[in-house]
Amino acid sequence: MASEFDLIARYFTRAAPAGLLGVGDDCALFPVPPGEQVATSTDLLLEGRHFFPDVDPQALGHKALAVNLSDLAAMGARPIGCVLGLALPRLDEPWLAAFAAGFHALAAAHGCPLIGGDTTRSAHDLAISVTVFGAVPAGLALRRDGAQAGDDIWVSGELGAADVAYRLLDGQYPADAALLAATRGALEWPEPQVALGLALRGIAHAAIDISDGLLQDLGHILAASRVGATLHYAELPAAAALAALEDAPLRRAVLGGGDVYQLCFTAPASRREAVLAAAAEAGVRVTRVGQIQAQHGLSVLDGQGQPLGDLPAGFDHFPAA
Ligand code: ADP
Ligand code: MG
Repeated sequence: MASEFDLIARYFTRAAPAGLLGVGDDCALFPVPPGEQVATSTDLLLEGRHFFPDVDPQALGHKALAVNLSDLAAMGARPIGCVLGLALPRLDEPWLAAFAAGFHALAAAHGCPLIGGDTTRSAHDLAISVTVFGAVPAGLALRRDGAQAGDDIWVSGELGAADVAYRLLDGQYPADAALLAATRGALEWPEPQVALGLALRGIAHAAIDISDGLLQDLGHILAASRVGATLHYAELPAAAALAALEDAPLRRAVLGGGDVYQLCFTAPASRREAVLAAAAEAGVRVTRVGQIQAQHGLSVLDGQGQPLGDLPAGFDHFPAA
């Protein structure tokens, strides 16, 4: 049977780029360019809570890193490298090989090599912890607390598909093979918007990645910035695959659906052309969906300008009883 060291050598050791010390020593080492700050973030993924036990391991390897790269994107940080903590209930080499392939492919695509980690046997479930490191020039990070009254609110990409895929797989919606086929990629293969985050430096006032649902995540920007907002429901870029959904599930998916990993950001109205140019440079669609205002609170208006009732709540691991 393969030892822990064999596994690390086989699946997690890759040549580190010049100037970095990767897997194999007590710590990894990487340089920080003068005038830049290190941006770092960790996400913990648990079997049964963040992914289904039978999920495609290659998709899981991709997503474990993607959700972390999405945090770097939301700060406007350029990826440097990442570390991976794995608690494995069993030694399943085909599973590990597929997981590692998904992980390393995304790492290579974003110049974010795996430079360390920890591997241990777990008594029960699988747990995956990824930490990313990035760099951003001091003062240019896209924080949550920079939104100002009068800013436009923008979102990248499309909303809602991951929520629908999740509810289909979870049995909350009746089986629908065509709808699942059209939405599953959004749930299992999210693409972190790193290039957009970089292009928005110096343009966006505030940004967040949508992991728990647009309303909840925009709410974090509003709370941190001490402002309010109005969203225009009819402007929100619902995923094309959701066209046949009824109102209630559509609203829940678009406003409350998590696992989106697109960016929600604010920018002054005077920078609309710059935002569109940044999005074109990053090769992603962006949509203007509302405005920041001084008055606190978040209202969502329908196409007639009337307040939308029954707003869905986002995902909360510790909801109030
Ligand atoms: P230590 O005893 O110092 O914690 P380990 O024996 O746990 O070292 O790990 C040996 C080397 O392998 C270290 O450089 C560590 O960063 C790396 N490593 C262990 N597990 C992983 C993993 N899952 N992914 C990437 N690198 C790993
Ligand atoms: Mg260790």
